[in-house]
Amino acid sequence: PSPIADGLPLSVRVIPYGEANRLLIASDVSRVHRLEQVRRDFVANVSHELRTPLTVIGGYLETLLDSGDLCAQKWEQPLRRMQQQSGRMQHIIEDLLMLAKLEGQGERVAMRPVAVPGMLAAIAEDGIALSGEQGHEIRVEADGDLWLLGHEQELRSAFSNLVFNAVRHTPAGRRIVIRWYQDGRGLHMEVEDNGEGIAPHHLPRLTERFYRVDRGRNRESGGTGLGLAIVKHVMSRHGGQLRITSQVGVGSTFACDFPAELALARKVVSRGSGG
Ligand code: ADP
Repeated sequence: PSPIADGLPLSVRVIPYGEANRLLIASDVSRVHRLEQVRRDFVANVSHELRTPLTVIGGYLETLLDSGDLCAQKWEQPLRRMQQQSGRMQHIIEDLLMLAKLEGQGERVAMRPVAVPGMLAAIAEDGIALSGEQGHEIRVEADGDLWLLGHEQELRSAFSNLVFNAVRHTPAGRRIVIRWYQDGRGLHMEVEDNGEGIAPHHLPRLTERFYRVDRGRNRESGGTGLGLAIVKHVMSRHGGQLRITSQVGVGSTFACDFPAELALARKVVSRGSGG
């Protein structure tokens, strides 16, 4: 980082040169920035344009399935499959739009107090619903008095992604623990599972868009391949980071680390808002 590059499309490298000299190499990266912007706009526009036709298709499929006549009975299975796949496509489009929004620098929504403990309890319930009949045990260990200054919708999306991933990659019947606490290093939301785990060489690439450890299988499990990319962006917008530790066959922990400055005490927030 260099004050010269601040706000300018310049990439600056400083190389020591002799005893007391420094060589400064500044490159113009405005073209890269422009291309990046074009890519972002393109993805956002395409996603936006696909949204309406997909909603229409989904609507017709639902009507057909609800109609209950002979034709619908004969075609019930293929129609259900189509409905499932169009739902998946909708999910991918929503995630792409969310990513485009997060990447767009212009979008600076004000941070507000977020009741993280309640949010995590609700996400845990959704996780149990997703895990189905055989079920997982999802335990929430949250500091009930600890709130966070942040973007509520983004945080809900990030935390849900981590919990739903844990459910999808953990055999039924096992335990998933969600933690929310503060220590000397900041605030932490952790999702720990006893699932399949991830080999070390995949870890650095997990937050890339569409990166999957096992492409075919993970597509079947209903993910979009965009979840962790979203989590990474949400964390960087909060000045925090995503930390992943994992061991194959033992399980994984996905930790969202937030700076201590974002901590709020529930009692203070409730008093301030008169509640
Ligand atoms: P997806 O929508 O495919 O889950 P993500 O970006 O959320 O995409 O995750 C990327 C990949 O990381 C997943 O496809 C999966 O291979 C791996 N992964 C994510 N969470 C876990 C987990 N808790 N346990 C094992 N593997 C995981």
